[in-house]
Amino acid sequence: MEYSILADSFEKMESTRKRLELTQMLVELFEKTPQEVISKIVYLIQGKLRPDFEGIELGVAEKLAIRAVSKSSGIAIKKIEDEYTKGGDLGHAAAVILEQKTQTTFLVENITVERVYETLFKIAKLEGSRSQDMKIKYISSLLNDANPLEASFILKILLGTLRLGIAENTVMDALAIAYSGNKENRKLLQNAYNVSSDLGKVAETIALEGIQGIEKFKVNLFNPIRPMLADRVKSEKEVIEKMGEEFAIEYKLDGERVQLHIEGDKIELFSRSLEKISSYYPDIIEKIPKMVKAEDAIMEAEIVAINENTGDFLPFQELMHRRRKYKIEKAVSEYPITVNFFDVLYCNGKDCTDLNYIERRRKLENIVQENEFAKFIPMTLAKNENEIEEFFENSINAGSEGLMLKMLDKPYQAGSRGSHWLKLKREYRNELGDSLDLVVVGGFFGKGRRTGSYGTLLLSTYDENTDTFPSICKVGTGFTDESLDQLYQILSPKTTIKKNPRINSEMDADVWFEPELVIEIVASEITLSPIHKVARDEIRKDTGLALRFPKFTGKIRVEKMAEDASTDDEVISLYKGQNKAAHDKNLI
Ligand code: AMP
Repeated sequence: MEYSILADSFEKMESTRKRLELTQMLVELFEKTPQEVISKIVYLIQGKLRPDFEGIELGVAEKLAIRAVSKSSGIAIKKIEDEYTKGGDLGHAAAVILEQKTQTTFLVENITVERVYETLFKIAKLEGSRSQDMKIKYISSLLNDANPLEASFILKILLGTLRLGIAENTVMDALAIAYSGNKENRKLLQNAYNVSSDLGKVAETIALEGIQGIEKFKVNLFNPIRPMLADRVKSEKEVIEKMGEEFAIEYKLDGERVQLHIEGDKIELFSRSLEKISSYYPDIIEKIPKMVKAEDAIMEAEIVAINENTGDFLPFQELMHRRRKYKIEKAVSEYPITVNFFDVLYCNGKDCTDLNYIERRRKLENIVQENEFAKFIPMTLAKNENEIEEFFENSINAGSEGLMLKMLDKPYQAGSRGSHWLKLKREYRNELGDSLDLVVVGGFFGKGRRTGSYGTLLLSTYDENTDTFPSICKVGTGFTDESLDQLYQILSPKTTIKKNPRINSEMDADVWFEPELVIEIVASEITLSPIHKVARDEIRKDTGLALRFPKFTGKIRVEKMAEDASTDDEVISLYKGQNKAAHDKNLI
């Protein structure tokens, strides 16, 4: 296929941003395209050579491209740079420069799409010390035979500056029209794209086999599936409205999403944007295949950085230390991780995306052997706001950023964002200015590295009117190894067999303490709560107040007695002040 056909189309496409016009131009281009070249055309339209997950990058620097233009035109580098600075686009500058050359030298030969593509491919694959010279040689040989318009687009592809503004959907519309005469078939193409993440392959299949070929598209190992995404919700109430009677809730961990493709010992990792990320995680590559009890599988997990001493989850940013080419072994030991599985999409040669959520979760639990390094994302089934709120609190205490809520009877919808999955994130709206002094009334045993201590504490205020200790929150963040130890030493002698009747709480603590110890807590916000007992019925019937995202400051207020702790009245006035502040802020 003559490359000039493609260059002419590119020129026309650059002149519009209208989707219908672009679709029409693409249809005309596809109609002129031989079947065996269609995948190349589709990649080139997107400024690529292969689907993203293959990681083939052209990566040609401007300086190098300028040297190649100079070599092919015989025009000084300085002059090309001047032309480039005038216009701001090297492709265009090259066209102007080459225009001068072709007028004075020889006639150009026709070049083909195949030749351009193969040459670009060779350039992308070059590595090593001589690669710069070789790249210049390849580029200038193409430019020698290209007319100025063709040359400008070759350079734009090489430099990654070809921006036709063509969305994948537009390409699929045009493919459906050109090869099946019916735009409605776009949906089938979309499905094929969602499971393969390879638009070139989709194009080639419809060109060679028609719609039947597209319908046969299957999930394939080592070919990433486009991830299913979640809609955002703002409150527990909204969850109930959208999710129906019963649903699954999972911790939403703050890490990196990974799709693991495993066959025997062979394993490949893909990021959420379907890049290959295997090289950053040699620990996963080594350990995970040994833990999978299946011949092959595609699974999804969240990789989370952890504090090796406490086992606590660390924020996403910590994982960025892993994104390096060299000394990765050092990063592996300095920045340990855990792999937290939440879905399975393929297993023992079978596609699992059609299975519903609960079937997939069961399968997942059957095929992965949990240990310290790899776990399942904590999950529970829920029906009402209370259950969501409680799990939300636990998830925040465990260092996660909120919850993912998933419908039980729905399949895995690759590539789509919809209401079958929802996310409820913690949001720090207005930070509570004051810290609170709260009474430790109950404890929950720690897991993992917190074994042998109380990983989470149940806290209360002091209600002067009734002389009781109503619960206000659970806290599991802000503790160091030392403070956990210290608190254990202080609290364990205070455990009681039965809950002290002055403690007002319906929580199911593992242990109850005499209400004596006071600790200092900060929080982001005071919220209405159906579970906690502080200021019950004061603001709203059957509702109390709770702290959102509480954190231990490290201060054990040994000088205070339980009756000196923050009172319900103080919490009510903080709650009102906080709402007034939010209201005032909105008015400004
Ligand atoms: P967001 O990035 O806010 O749209 O949230 C979606 C991301 O949350 C996913 O891409 C995952 O990286 C991450 N995530 C954390 N926990 C889960 C979970 N239990 N299920 C699905 N995704 C999760």
